[in-house]
Amino acid sequence: MRVNAEIIAVGSELLLGQIQNSNATYISGQLSSIGIDVYHHVVVGDNPNRLSEVVESGLNRSDLLIFTGGLGPTKDDLTKETVAKVTGKELVYDRETEERIESHFAQRRREMTANNRKQAMVLKDAKILANDQGLACGMVVEHNNKYIVMLPGPPSELIPMVNNYLMPFLKKKLVLNEEIQSMVLRFFDIGESQLVEKVDDLIEQQTNPTIAPLASGGEVTLRLTVKGSDKQENDFQLQQLKSKILERLGYYYYGEDESQLANILFRELKATGQSIAAAESLTGGLFSTMMTSEPGSSSVFTGGIICYSNSVKHTELAISQKLLQTEGAISSSCAKEMAINIKQKYHSDIGISFTGVAGPNSSEGHEPGIVYIGIATKHHEETYLLRLAGSRENIRERSVKYGMYYLIQCLSKEKEKEKIKVDE
Ligand code: ATP
Ligand code: MG
Repeated sequence: MRVNAEIIAVGSELLLGQIQNSNATYISGQLSSIGIDVYHHVVVGDNPNRLSEVVESGLNRSDLLIFTGGLGPTKDDLTKETVAKVTGKELVYDRETEERIESHFAQRRREMTANNRKQAMVLKDAKILANDQGLACGMVVEHNNKYIVMLPGPPSELIPMVNNYLMPFLKKKLVLNEEIQSMVLRFFDIGESQLVEKVDDLIEQQTNPTIAPLASGGEVTLRLTVKGSDKQENDFQLQQLKSKILERLGYYYYGEDESQLANILFRELKATGQSIAAAESLTGGLFSTMMTSEPGSSSVFTGGIICYSNSVKHTELAISQKLLQTEGAISSSCAKEMAINIKQKYHSDIGISFTGVAGPNSSEGHEPGIVYIGIATKHHEETYLLRLAGSRENIRERSVKYGMYYLIQCLSKEKEKEKIKVDE
């Protein structure tokens, strides 16, 4: 039996665009991890008629309805009243919840209002899901062989309730001998359409595992998802598909799942015992910020300079006036000097530099998106020219990511060379 679920978020503030429907995202993630398919996300305002319609349509098409929000004490909190009305179930006081609410108010020496007592009302025969963080309890009711779940709106209450009480309940009641496992492959320096073209046939053939591409923040990811009852077989399927994909796209691949370029670079530097310093012009310290956001970064990151103006490039980094006047600050030579000089100045093993035009206006006759990156390692120096398009923020962020990506490549090439030397 496959269960199909629907998540119904209740609250006019969601429709007004005041808050994001993060509850639905969270619940969907949890359900998919136990093999429950979610076919619909619905958002409805605090309106009794429209809420009734949503309950009815949900019962017509889904086996499991999960409501979030509208369980509070105020007049516009209508979820359980509406579900009670549509299913013809009675609302009754739950003594345990009532006692909990009473003791909450007694502890705080505050008076309990009739409104608050309303929060102890539950649907008759409901299974109660305890709220360890707030007053409104959650509920599960059975109706015509379907389950209706009601959860509070605040994520701080909903998340522990889902983890501690709802998931164990669903696993027990809707035991699916199937697990869903997924793996995210991360790629850089390749556009989404170019990447998809290279694995088009695999995407076309996909049934189990499936392949889903996604592009964001200048990176492209492929999410591989497999369903099956045998965990080992699932792992095998994922690994096989991963190898097939990397045969074609290995050059652009940099990591898996939650890995980010910054933490991969950090790990590589740490593993090879090397330190790095940065000279940043257009990126204004973004590289240094990203590097120092890694815990323990002081062991690999010695420091950075934001050398935005030409005079600071000259005084702090000893870039010669001649170079600045002849080739300009936005040039391969300047990027190279910046990388070499920051490395020397801060006594690090590697120097990296960023100079270019973030836009939206041109600078020194260069178009926005022209960026030079310099890398000076123990063994050699290299510069890279990027031609990026996009907003100012986007160009700055992608410049930093390209810098990290090139540096990771440099380090792995140097490691290869070392290995060959040792083998010889
Ligand atoms: P309360 O007892 O706080 O009134 P409630 O169960 O009645 O809780 P709502 O009144 O609908 O829930 O929402 C309370 C708060 O919870 C909202 O102001 C919002 O901050 C958060 N919230 C509600 N729904 C969602 C949602 N779908 N995703 C994320 N946050 C939500
Ligand atoms: Mg409310």
